[in-house]
Amino acid sequence: MISEKMKPLVNNNSAIRAMFEEGNRLAALYGRENVYDFSLGNPNVPAPKEVKQALLDVLNEEDSCFVNGYMSNAGYPDTRKAVADSLNRRFGTAYGPQNLIMTVGAASAINIFLKTILDPGDEVVTFAPYFVEYGNYVRNYDGILRVVPANTRDFQPDIEGLRAAVTSRTKAVIINTPNNPTGIVYSEETLRALQNVIAEKEAEYGTVIITVSDEPYRELAYDGVKVPWVPDFLEHAVVVYSYSKSLSLPGQRIGWLLIPDSIPEAEEVISAATIANRVCGAVNAPSLIQRALIRCIDASTDIEAYNANRELLYGGLKELGFECAKPQGAFYLFVKAPDGDDARFVDVCKKYNVLVVPGKSFACAGYVRLAYCVSNDMIRRSLPAFRKIAEEYGL
Ligand code: PLP
Repeated sequence: MISEKMKPLVNNNSAIRAMFEEGNRLAALYGRENVYDFSLGNPNVPAPKEVKQALLDVLNEEDSCFVNGYMSNAGYPDTRKAVADSLNRRFGTAYGPQNLIMTVGAASAINIFLKTILDPGDEVVTFAPYFVEYGNYVRNYDGILRVVPANTRDFQPDIEGLRAAVTSRTKAVIINTPNNPTGIVYSEETLRALQNVIAEKEAEYGTVIITVSDEPYRELAYDGVKVPWVPDFLEHAVVVYSYSKSLSLPGQRIGWLLIPDSIPEAEEVISAATIANRVCGAVNAPSLIQRALIRCIDASTDIEAYNANRELLYGGLKELGFECAKPQGAFYLFVKAPDGDDARFVDVCKKYNVLVVPGKSFACAGYVRLAYCVSNDMIRRSLPAFRKIAEEYGL
């Protein structure tokens, strides 16, 4: 009954989700407090109180037919203006509401943009390790995802690898900074180098190559690290954003797609993307949270809670002899499998009720990802289990 296109998706159902289910199984056997689940990027920090207040105020003060009604497929004009104004204040830009489409999270924003630009057989390049859904999103529109192998020296994108991967069919390059799964923030130097290669390839093939900057973790950066504003460096960049992590609202499904005027034929691209929002089935982003955003656009999450987790887990694992780059952003640690075998590392961790995701799921074997958007207490309680894992590897 199901389509040929769906069959591989059913067969390879996400390892992250599978691990989440495994967590529930182990919790039923050993008790929730004895299972250390680092598998899912579901924020444990509650949404800021301003969000709740804004939701209540919308319900109490705004006309219910308006709040619950259909709207423009791009979203409420005043929500888009609030987002544009906030970006302009922070990045010295001059975007207007017409540059923004409110979306059902970053996932939908990426989908509608790919729907907008891809013809069957067109190619999209990304850099390992990458958010595994990119491949599924590209295949939704019969595109081909080309993956540049990981640069495991510092996990910045491999520029020479990009040069080799771009062809005359390349329509887009997806980047993700701060990165899931490494927590690395792409440097200005990296972004300049990306621009050089992309401009060189655009000139060689006479094409336009759009950089899709996927930034759900933009606000989660530590130690004063600044996340560069990508359109300042890449001439043909669109930005995808989500409030799933920055305001701990993944279930609300709210984000946006920014298409700056610097994109060739920007107006046509924006109207096509707005139609894509409709025909992909979302029609428009959820209305209540769009209304609320206007009232809490400057709210921010408790970054210190994630930072405390980062320090505790990173410090604890390093002390035990594990190898891992210190994340500058997001809430993930990408830890090297001591013997290079990530599948075995996942199994050894599971033996001690520690759930982690294999690097293979991010096209980067030899590593595992730990999501530290969990309670600080759980991290503390997990450290003796990590000690046993380290001992098993003879670290
Ligand atoms: N992009 C990256 C890199 C992510 O890690 C995620 C979610 O984990 C998404 C996109 C999707 O986010 P959203 O919940 O906004 O759809």
